[in-house]
Amino acid sequence: MRKLFSLLFVACMAAPSSAATFSITHFGTPPDAQAAIQYAADIWGGILISDVPIKVSVSWSALGGAALGVTFPNGRKDFPSAPFASTWYATALANSIAGAELNVGEDDINVYLNSGTNWYLGTDGNTPAGQYDLVSIALHELGHGLGFVGLAKKVANEGSFGLLQASDFAPLITTFPWPEQDTLPGIFDRFLTSTANGPLTFLNNPSTVLGTAFTSNQVYFNGANAMAANSGQNARIYAPSVFALGSSCVHLNEATFPAGNPNELMTPFSSAGQSNHWPGPICLGILRDIGWNLAPDVGIAEHHLPSGHLYPDPATSEITIITGTPGRKEPFTIMDAFGRIALIGSISGPIDVSTLDAGAYLARGQTGWVTRFIKQ
Ligand SMILES: [Zn+2]
Repeated sequence: MRKLFSLLFVACMAAPSSAATFSITHFGTPPDAQAAIQYAADIWGGILISDVPIKVSVSWSALGGAALGVTFPNGRKDFPSAPFASTWYATALANSIAGAELNVGEDDINVYLNSGTNWYLGTDGNTPAGQYDLVSIALHELGHGLGFVGLAKKVANEGSFGLLQASDFAPLITTFPWPEQDTLPGIFDRFLTSTANGPLTFLNNPSTVLGTAFTSNQVYFNGANAMAANSGQNARIYAPSVFALGSSCVHLNEATFPAGNPNELMTPFSSAGQSNHWPGPICLGILRDIGWNLAPDVGIAEHHLPSGHLYPDPATSEITIITGTPGRKEPFTIMDAFGRIALIGSISGPIDVSTLDAGAYLARGQTGWVTRFIKQ
């Protein structure tokens, strides 16, 4: 087992309409490795919808140790149409949301791949024993670059969001200026919760409480789409008792999603002789939760109810949902803006929402429909 460092830092508006494209600049990457990396980028291109090309630099470098790859996403915050203020977004995602290139002249993603690894450079997933599948690792690293990443750090007992420094990752450097993070979290971090403490971004930052949470083995991602892809449960995040910068709190939990699990791609360790060429439903749910538009057929079955099929909106005491499956007592879930479950039930008539706090909610049915409404 070797470690996948990630890192970083990372770090609806005019709807983008086209498949994402990648512009990759290589430094020292052998041609057949370039082909495998492009293959991985094309997999992401078939998943993501974005009108702004994603600029990636790949450095084929001796990383030493057990590292297979390290990724640094560039970041932006408080850009036009940003869903959350004072929150870092990977620039590839920020550009997609804004519908414009916010970082002209800067790369979106820096990927380092270890030139000393015994790579399998084929694209067929038929990885021989003892070799590491480059398509799988490139897919994983690009996933971080797209925003599957947070800004958690722990020094001694103190945990923090948004205090990552370029020097934390020396001698590696980024091609773009290191954003001054100002103790602000990333959008991924805003969905992290721990069993003992609730939402982690609600805790003092920095603080020992946050540090304890980071190493509690009980950190979960609670976005609505990720949960829908995980049988309605929060998705467990890798948060071992010893904090590992670049691994802790930025991956799915290894033991929960072991090799062979459809969600294993974004776990922190990868084994030789294996391959995984699809992000899996939880990762895709996470990407959607943090703001990506995904192609409609990528494995998260979901369709929006037509306008008027939930009424009244805004609502005060009760809502009625016309689901297209009349007479069926369909289970439903209502989630708040943070992806937390606010109400669960089965539709058999008007739904009492009088106990919900005022705000925006997402209703989701078992058959895959979703719709939003406002509670006054
Ligand atoms: Zn990783």
